[in-house]
Amino acid sequence: MADRLIRATAADGGIRAVGVITTRLTESARMRHKLSYVATATLGRAMSSGLLLASNMKEERARINIRIKGNGPLGLVFVDAGSDGTVRGYVENPGVELPPNAQGKLDVGGAVGKEGYLYVIRDVGYGYPYSGTVELVSGEIGEDIASYLVTSEQTPSALLVGVFVGEEGVTASGGLLLQVLPKAARDENLIEILEERVGKLTGFTPLLRAGKTLPQILEQLLGDLGLVIFPEVQMVRFHCGCSFQRVLGALKMLGEAELQDMIEKDDGAEASCQFCGEVYQARSNHLLELIQDL
Ligand SMILES: [Zn+2]
Repeated sequence: MADRLIRATAADGGIRAVGVITTRLTESARMRHKLSYVATATLGRAMSSGLLLASNMKEERARINIRIKGNGPLGLVFVDAGSDGTVRGYVENPGVELPPNAQGKLDVGGAVGKEGYLYVIRDVGYGYPYSGTVELVSGEIGEDIASYLVTSEQTPSALLVGVFVGEEGVTASGGLLLQVLPKAARDENLIEILEERVGKLTGFTPLLRAGKTLPQILEQLLGDLGLVIFPEVQMVRFHCGCSFQRVLGALKMLGEAELQDMIEKDDGAEASCQFCGEVYQARSNHLLELIQDL
């Protein structure tokens, strides 16, 4: 099934639910950045989280940035997701591989590290961006993002994200976000019900791998609570706004001496985009034009 995002409500609008499938875009990120298994699982979970968080921003150009800096070997995990369904991201050390954890799963918590910080910036496209920081809970991403939503955005939330990756690549990836909205936030019972139901699930990817669709998954969780699924389905994809012109702009900032040096030593320059792994080749004539512009 193509990557997609759907929204729903339940309990007379007291519950907001979002589901996302990111199998293809996580596979795309794996290929682009040459990610290890555990790096694929980490970035896939973080990209699903970014899309889920961006899904409640109505402005067309709204974006959310997630930076996860733990004390594990993976280094920085960065995701940039938009309300338009685009997402991009990278991990600092994409080749890091770790043995499975005690549950026999990819050790995302060990790779990210259990100590450190999660930073989130919400930018609606104008005005001052909103930002928040929380300490990592487990480095497993889902719990860390949920902790951010509860403490920094004061919205009781349950978040479930997962990635299944093997020798044939990513075969399942996605997640669910369930939130109790302010009108029902005092309803402790509702929060308990959601936590209990999400807690009973053994993960998100087993549902996908069993052939369940997003509406079926939401039905299973919230069907008896007045679930209303919105008819609009949003396509989501890996996308980076980088271009050769932007790379040239960045090279220009290096200044004349450095550019001249690149022309003499390398007959040009090779620059890769940190966010998507795209490699751009600038030839000497491009660099000479930049020098003339300076
Ligand atoms: Zn790029």
